[in-house]
Amino acid sequence: MTGTKIRVLDPDTVNQIAAGEVVERPASVVKELLENAVDAGSTSILIDVSSDLAGITKVRVTDDGAGMTPEEAALAFHPHATSKIREITDLSSIRTLGFRGEALASIAAVAEVTLITRPRGAGALAGTRLRVRGGEVVEKGEVGAPEGTTVIVERLFYNTPVRRKFLKSRNTELAHIYGVVENLALAHGEVAFRVVHNGKERMATQRSGGLLNAIAGLYGADLARALVPVEGRFPFLRISGYVSRPSESRGNPSQAVISINGRSITSRQIAAAVREGYGTLLPKDRYPVAFVDLSVDTDLVDVNVHPTKREVRLSREREVLTAVAAAVSEALAGHDLASEAPAEPVQQQIVPPGPEPGEVPAVSELEAPYAAGHRGLALSDRQLRRTEAEGTENLLPTMEPFGQVAATYIVAEGADGTLYLVDQHAAHERILYDQVVEQRDAEAGSQELIMPVVLSFPPKESAALRDAIPLLAGEGFVVEEFGRDTFAVRAVPVALGALEDLEKVRETIADLLADESRTTPDRREAVTCIVACRGAVKAGALLTHDQQKRLLAQLARTKTPWTCPHGRPTVVAFDKRKLDGIFRRG
Ligand code: ADP
Ligand code: MG
Repeated sequence: MTGTKIRVLDPDTVNQIAAGEVVERPASVVKELLENAVDAGSTSILIDVSSDLAGITKVRVTDDGAGMTPEEAALAFHPHATSKIREITDLSSIRTLGFRGEALASIAAVAEVTLITRPRGAGALAGTRLRVRGGEVVEKGEVGAPEGTTVIVERLFYNTPVRRKFLKSRNTELAHIYGVVENLALAHGEVAFRVVHNGKERMATQRSGGLLNAIAGLYGADLARALVPVEGRFPFLRISGYVSRPSESRGNPSQAVISINGRSITSRQIAAAVREGYGTLLPKDRYPVAFVDLSVDTDLVDVNVHPTKREVRLSREREVLTAVAAAVSEALAGHDLASEAPAEPVQQQIVPPGPEPGEVPAVSELEAPYAAGHRGLALSDRQLRRTEAEGTENLLPTMEPFGQVAATYIVAEGADGTLYLVDQHAAHERILYDQVVEQRDAEAGSQELIMPVVLSFPPKESAALRDAIPLLAGEGFVVEEFGRDTFAVRAVPVALGALEDLEKVRETIADLLADESRTTPDRREAVTCIVACRGAVKAGALLTHDQQKRLLAQLARTKTPWTCPHGRPTVVAFDKRKLDGIFRRG
């Protein structure tokens, strides 16, 4: 199968292969070249990407796979030329990623391509160098080369200006490229992948380090630690992979990496089945992180559905989905999910009350998880101090708090004997939200941190974060790139206060990056909501009488005190008549 006997498929076979555009953007080029390198039995693949400010200028993929003879090299660029199938029925036993024989031809039609290749075990036989432009071979010759194949793609879409115009920013395109490599690397542990961008290494996986190592390499050791292994064996199906403990969930469903027989695919159904395995362990709007590989008999998988092969059709899909949900459920049940304490013991310490406004909290305070008691009260104090504002308007009736229920609802009495229950988190969210919006619209409101907070992200998120820097600046986050995939946060919105909120910066960013199609106003709104929600006093936090009073006073000064930014009520009232009714006092 590898590297030999490329032939042009007959028209009948061609007509039965799912047709369509393969080369949509630079990442599609990378995907096709990588698939070819994997199919050629490579053990190590280098992806070298060059860009200027305007976009990706060059992609070079080098592998140590089977290579090609001079004749094969020339044939490889023919439309419908492939070494992987000969007739359509071969598809039912396909083990390779490619089979359409279209990729190199399609890429060469819209770019300048240079191919350098030398077959394995070629002895004295020289390598071949081919240059193809607009689909035509413009140069062919012998060249000294190591065994394996290098493909260089330049001037992508030079002859299709419309396509070129639709490319997103350089960083978005880079993020897509990193995403492609991630997916392939996760499905092919037998290959070492390395990505270099403008001379800097951005990503590297080891050979055969196992899936968990690959995950740790790509997404960080913290995530790897939060995963539970999934295994399932069924008559026609094997499931293996990792899923996150419920505490490590995400706000969007894009963190399910699924592959079938080594082919990375998108499947809402399988992602949904994984989530179903969590049962009630996840709230309605949360999604797990999952890396799941299915090994299925090849004749049960139809790969010929989608031109870029991102989707497949499964026979016995119902049984597969049920099996996936069952395997996930079993994996979670077999694990002590309660033992989710951080790796280091949490230091129990009593801290002095929070810093005065403008004062900078000590570093230890920034990172140590909060303990109960004093610490909690000090935190609530800081959170409330932050939202202290001038203003005389008072849109709530006067009320006097006299305690909390379940450390979640403030109980208060109005002058006329009305009973009020106030959701402390929702109320503070409203207060913060209004202030963040005000600061946002005034383009003011950054507070500099004396100690910048340094965050690292996986390459894919890094690239997207680079794009989001101006947007975040609009919200008061001053973020600078600081080294390889590392960013320094130099300032945060005033309303966010000091850094209880390392995680908030991270989550805000992750959330934004998850959905690039969001329009700018949507994104701004999303940032604002996250900032408000994360900065607000928590449900379950004990509040002193004074703190309760301050919270109610602050709420009364907002423009819409009765609902939180998500439209849920902040205050419910039972006036005397209602109470009388409840007790049937006529
Ligand atoms: P497909 O992968 O669907 O067969 P492509 O257009 O991607 O079609 O590639 C055409 C053929 O060129 C492949 O079938 C394979 O024989 C050969 N080829 C492409 N890339 C490589 C590579 N990196 N190493 C060895 N052979 C390759
Ligand atoms: Mg291919």
